[in-house]
Amino acid sequence: MSVAAEFERLYGAAPEGVWAAPGRVNLIGEYTDFNDGFVLPLALPHTAVAAVSRRDDGLLRVHSADVEGGVVWLDVATLEPLAPLPDGTGWAAYPAGVVWALREAGHAVTGADIHLASTVPTGAGLSSSAALEVVTALALNDLFGLGLSRPGLAVLAQRAENAFVGVPCGVMDQMASACAVEGHALFLDTRDLSYRQVPFDLAARGLRLLVVDTRVKHALGDGAYAERRAGCEAGARALGVRALREVPYVQLPDALARLSEESVRRYVRHVVSDNYRVERTIALLDSGDPTAVGPLLTEGHASLRDDLRVSCPELDLVVETANAAGALGARMTGGGFGGSAVVLVAEERVDAVVTAVEEAFAKAGFAAPGIFPAVPSAGARRE
Ligand code: ADP
Ligand code: MG
Repeated sequence: MSVAAEFERLYGAAPEGVWAAPGRVNLIGEYTDFNDGFVLPLALPHTAVAAVSRRDDGLLRVHSADVEGGVVWLDVATLEPLAPLPDGTGWAAYPAGVVWALREAGHAVTGADIHLASTVPTGAGLSSSAALEVVTALALNDLFGLGLSRPGLAVLAQRAENAFVGVPCGVMDQMASACAVEGHALFLDTRDLSYRQVPFDLAARGLRLLVVDTRVKHALGDGAYAERRAGCEAGARALGVRALREVPYVQLPDALARLSEESVRRYVRHVVSDNYRVERTIALLDSGDPTAVGPLLTEGHASLRDDLRVSCPELDLVVETANAAGALGARMTGGGFGGSAVVLVAEERVDAVVTAVEEAFAKAGFAAPGIFPAVPSAGARRE
């Protein structure tokens, strides 16, 4: 059943509209976004789709086709950050958090009926959560005539996830979902949210970017992300900068020499070098040389594995196997500890790489990975 038809079955009338927002995969620039740094994500063809109608009585009803259980009823006036929701309805905090964040920002959102369905794999590092938030924010922005910009919607969606759901994510995921353009990667400066669409037409170069979902569920909520974040902040303080993005790559050796804590030194080395890798990647894409991006991906992976220490055996196996089978380069993407990797590969090597990764996973006793091409797709839109 279509999302609109399911909405009508649930709520008894056709929706006022249907919106879609994509998941994303980050090409390069990992754990840089909370250091005011650079990132380079692209939107996926996978989307969260929402059928939505306004209400004026303060009632918020949300339903997901992808979760067991019925419609969740909430009252917009009593939405409370971090308040536990009844068993099995915790997911509703994502759309509810967006309503809360909009109302906190002074927007008169007086209630809504929402039905969602998503093709973004959850917990795979592909931002199913941001897709859910951004589709909700865009729908309410359109229906209530709020006039928010795309970056404005992304920031509100991030606030919903940080403050209402309680996940300390950066703003990259929401910006990618809200602002991406088909056929492009989004070069985003997370300090001021300025961005540029970078042409990313791999097919024209005979290349493909594969996403390999390891099926290992990452959990950003756990302490590791917060610990890396705190370590980066400690590094910035020790170096006397507001954020690590202010440390130029050429000054990295000096900066490292001034840090006493071993883990902080590793985190700083990762962030400063990955920020630089984003700049080098952009330069290569601008000069029409995407093939040369491959080694930067693999270098980035080594940095995430050895310095930030956020990889896992499955992600390392993808990178090692894909490169051995002739890929141009590969890296984990997203928060790590599971989730997905990206692999840059020439079209004629795709089959060999896919087979090699599948066989290596089987041999290691890992669950079969999900592998699909990352086609740079459009950002959030009304359907
Ligand atoms: P990621 O964003 O990497 O997929 P997160 O842990 O940030 O992983 O977000 C996943 C959570 O988002 C799920 O546990 C669920 O609560 C919510 N979610 C995502 N997609 C849906 C959906 N289609 N229906 C209901 N909840 C969803
Ligand atoms: Mg997420």
